[in-house]
Amino acid sequence: MTVALTFDDGPDPIWTPRVLAALDAAGARATFFVMGSAAAAHPELVRATVAAGHDVQLHCYAHVRHTLLSGSELEVDTDRALAVLAGLGVTPSRWRTPWGVLGPRTESVAAARGLALTHWTADTEDWAGERSTVLLARVADELRPGAVVLAHDGVGPGARRSGCAETVALIAPLVAAIRAAGLEPGAVPTMRAGVRSSYDGSKFESPFEVRTVPRTGAGPSPPLAAAAGARPC
Ligand SMILES: [Zn+2]
Repeated sequence: MTVALTFDDGPDPIWTPRVLAALDAAGARATFFVMGSAAAAHPELVRATVAAGHDVQLHCYAHVRHTLLSGSELEVDTDRALAVLAGLGVTPSRWRTPWGVLGPRTESVAAARGLALTHWTADTEDWAGERSTVLLARVADELRPGAVVLAHDGVGPGARRSGCAETVALIAPLVAAIRAAGLEPGAVPTMRAGVRSSYDGSKFESPFEVRTVPRTGAGPSPPLAAAAGARPC
């Protein structure tokens, strides 16, 4: 049974190589939800991530809440990121939106491009600048089959830290904790075509979640509203 490890906001020329090295040392694979802007600036890092056996998926081109984008702006941003990734031989099937926020058009844009919206179930909140021991304690009780752990290999907007050293330091003990629970770390499994699950506002009903709550108003999605102003995920 898998616990998925996911990293957002990369690739980063300083931190992504260190995250990759830590994962390699731990013998673990992960999913990287990358920014197209960063992938365009550092294509070699995307290639290295894929070459190391990890999964590369879509985060965004520019890190903007979908509630602040028109439908056409969202399409442009998404297609721009997909074009960068296509140029690197990557065809995403999953999409984690900036901050996990959905706008009114997010689901239709995702559906038209065959992208499964992918959330998380355990948040390290590594963006806040705490020590790795704190990050591990935060998710330790959430390491169950089908869990999706969120961390970052880049410093996104709103982050309260200057680098990702504590995320790097978290990887070995996190992998050990997952295995101690009788589970195995890995990438987010490939989505079966057409599989969707509902989101009840606090828990996903099934592992590896597809968040389907339609958003019609402005502002962040309700479950994330309290912290969305600062979260860099
Ligand atoms: Zn992000």
